[in-house]
Amino acid sequence: MDDPFQGELTALRARSLHRRLRQMQTSPDGTVELAERGRLVNFASNDYLGLADDPRLRDAAKAAIDRYGVGAGASRLVSGTRPSHTALEEKLARFKGTDAALTFSSGYAAALGTLPSLVDKQDVLILDKLCHACLVDAARASRAVIRVFSHNAMGKLEDHLQWARREHPDARIIVVTEAVFSMDGDRAPLTDLVELKRQHRALLMVDEAHSVGVIGRHGRGLAAELGVAGEIDIHMGTLSKALGVSGGYIGGSRGLIDLLVNRARSFIFSTAQPPALAAAAEAALDFLLTDEGERRRLTLWQNIRLLAGQLPAAPGAGSDESPRRQDGGSAIFPWIVGGEGQAVDFSAWLARKGFFAPAIRYPTVAKGSARLRLTVTARHQPEQILALGKALAELTHAVE
Ligand SMILES: *Cc1c(COP(=O)(O)O)cnc(C)c1O
Repeated sequence: MDDPFQGELTALRARSLHRRLRQMQTSPDGTVELAERGRLVNFASNDYLGLADDPRLRDAAKAAIDRYGVGAGASRLVSGTRPSHTALEEKLARFKGTDAALTFSSGYAAALGTLPSLVDKQDVLILDKLCHACLVDAARASRAVIRVFSHNAMGKLEDHLQWARREHPDARIIVVTEAVFSMDGDRAPLTDLVELKRQHRALLMVDEAHSVGVIGRHGRGLAAELGVAGEIDIHMGTLSKALGVSGGYIGGSRGLIDLLVNRARSFIFSTAQPPALAAAAEAALDFLLTDEGERRRLTLWQNIRLLAGQLPAAPGAGSDESPRRQDGGSAIFPWIVGGEGQAVDFSAWLARKGFFAPAIRYPTVAKGSARLRLTVTARHQPEQILALGKALAELTHAVE
């Protein structure tokens, strides 16, 4: 039988936008083993603290499996809520300093369940241009009026807020942003955002996917670091990055959480997260709160500063509106190349030198701003980071 989908795939290949799954084995030493390339140092993981294979998390998950089994068997509202879900939610709320928290099966599901529960077609959502796809999809699903402001441009946001208040005086207005932007690694000016949302009686939702575990004492996130956590109406995050597990969460008032339990379709109509994952995430939070956890986070920051000092300017710097900073405000370093084909070539070149850093292309980032998205973790050895800096410098010279 003819495969009716091959035409589209051929078109993707012609534009260097085709992707495929690569099977790999990750190791505790921060390397990955790829069938076709052998062992590479992994600069593409969001497991910033190296918790994904931590014995504490493994043991917590195993104990929960022995106690509750593997699957939850039903959605949370039906018969899927186990003690490990409630315990995790209480712990998350304490960690984030919110009244309550709710977990979802992924960060994506958390976003998708939340915005449509809070706004409808008479309301307004105002998103940063570089918001993650899950926030964009959630905004679209909500049917609210959507406005987008240029990345971190507070003047533009203020224009939208004034417009929204004028045209929709009684609407609910929610400003949506990320604390650390996933593909650019820079931070949102949360203090300014809080000021603006107060002036215009809007609500603020902040996705801390890449800041929890990384920024702020004990990894409580950017809002906590800046002392504005109490001003964020909707805290969002994921258990799948620095916390090393899987799942997403929302933190906020009791009213917010209760409303989500009643309305969030990705929560209501989906089987509960396996209780073992909730137990593992709880163990990850416990670890963050220990002295050892805080030391692990500081090791991550040593590595971030080391890479920031090593990274040569990227060849595509200055070609689009993405931020160009590589000063190490997070564990994410965008090395912007520009062309999709060139990004793929650079990634392959780095793999031949022993480094894993896949090309990030449209639609994850804008067309023409393809990049190597380099991430450092607490697991990297300084020599591995120095070697990457050297390889990138060599690559820069080769293309000049
Ligand atoms: C990864 C990511 C998510 C989605 O989280 P998952 O738990 O992986 O579904 C949401 N927001 C941002 C900014 C992310 O980078």
